[in-house]
Amino acid sequence: MKITFCGAAGTTTGSKHLIEVNDARILLDCGLYQGRRSESIERNSHFPFDPEKIDCVILSHAHIDHSGNLPHLCKKGFKGNIFSTPATRDLCSIMLPDAAHIHESDIAWLNRHRKKDDLPALQPSYSREDAEKCLRQFVTLGYDRPMQVADGVRLTFIDAGHVLGSAQVILDIQDQEDGQKKRLLFSGDIGRFGNDLLNDPATCEAVDYVIMESTYGGRRHEATADSTEHLCNIIRRIQQRRSRLIIPAFAVERTQQLLFTLDGLRHENRIGPIQTFVDSPLAVKATEIFRLHVGEMKPEAAQALFMRDDPFGFEGLRLIRGVEESKALNKIKGPAIIISASGMAESGRILHHLRQNITHRDNILLFVGYCAENTLGWKLRHGYPHVSILGDDFPVHAEIETLDSFSGHADHDELLTWFSKVGGLKKRVFLVHGEPQSTEALQIALQAAHPAGCVESAVFLQTVEL
Ligand SMILES: [Zn+2]
Ligand SMILES: [Zn+2]
Repeated sequence: MKITFCGAAGTTTGSKHLIEVNDARILLDCGLYQGRRSESIERNSHFPFDPEKIDCVILSHAHIDHSGNLPHLCKKGFKGNIFSTPATRDLCSIMLPDAAHIHESDIAWLNRHRKKDDLPALQPSYSREDAEKCLRQFVTLGYDRPMQVADGVRLTFIDAGHVLGSAQVILDIQDQEDGQKKRLLFSGDIGRFGNDLLNDPATCEAVDYVIMESTYGGRRHEATADSTEHLCNIIRRIQQRRSRLIIPAFAVERTQQLLFTLDGLRHENRIGPIQTFVDSPLAVKATEIFRLHVGEMKPEAAQALFMRDDPFGFEGLRLIRGVEESKALNKIKGPAIIISASGMAESGRILHHLRQNITHRDNILLFVGYCAENTLGWKLRHGYPHVSILGDDFPVHAEIETLDSFSGHADHDELLTWFSKVGGLKKRVFLVHGEPQSTEALQIALQAAHPAGCVESAVFLQTVEL
């Protein structure tokens, strides 16, 4: 059996690993590489294998860095099944067409610049229609339901606790070449222990080989109890000043997590009623998908959805779809919370809310997630006194706050905890999905904790034989 690391090796995005065994070619994830625009387009437009020769894809979760290049793979001739959990398929049904729309806009933007330099126009690698078409190739499988996916290869998904429907992938392989039985565990992205909405990452026994993510290697999150008090404090300030709290947030998971937390704080009387708006069509659709998949959430959260008067529909909360309704938010009176996408403030309706609110000293901008370097979110988090938003320059007078505890990723200590719970010899461990310094920090710590196995940082396009 062979593994080739075709993406998310030495970087966090573009997750893609090719398994070749018993004459079958199985692709784990088919994510988009997300970096500088021109480099991303180049990297995403070529596959280091023939898509027609892939037998099936196993998708760990719906995030675009894991799923976003599937429409392109199908367009290039991949005809097999895409195995995922039911919630992952449903989230992909809104996220892939949205990613296609962003991709087409990026190409249009690049082509305007290319035209000025007399360069030929580029074609988008896939369209919204291709994204919709590829959804027909999905075959869904619940947690803990083993299924044969190729000759001598059995797949089982177990909960990863990272986003709704996220899975760790177990492959039980009867390798015909050497006659050996092998168990490979691909972590996907690993969530946090003690999340309000999702179950803790599940554990797996008797593992021989591990492909493990390393996003937060060497870094630690703020304690959840401290961060909840921090959030209450921010909201009380907004209520006293009768001003606005603007939260750029990812539409899927982070927004629902925030709503669930806000509802809990109100139930505990730690904050008073405050009008709250979710202004992102994708977030509104994603919230509906959460309601459909209560069985994939933590039992207490599922219970709250039925018993507590709906955490995603509490009094004072409005979910905004239409453009006119969104514009009307500029005129609302009194203290308010506006949650809008994108989380890195690179695109979407959040830009209009930032333009409206960034110059007022009483307002607060709160960042609850990772912002890649040079994005508008990153500049604001790093205290830039002036920023450009949709072509105009604005002085930054609003207060800037950050809460990293809402992260969907296990931090360094939680990654070590997860690994310690994985049973078996774990003969070889390949670290993926991390910036080089994060992967290295995790590699050093894991190797010290697990001297019997070999812990390696996966190299882009490296093939290993097992
Ligand atoms: Zn993820
Ligand atoms: Zn990821």
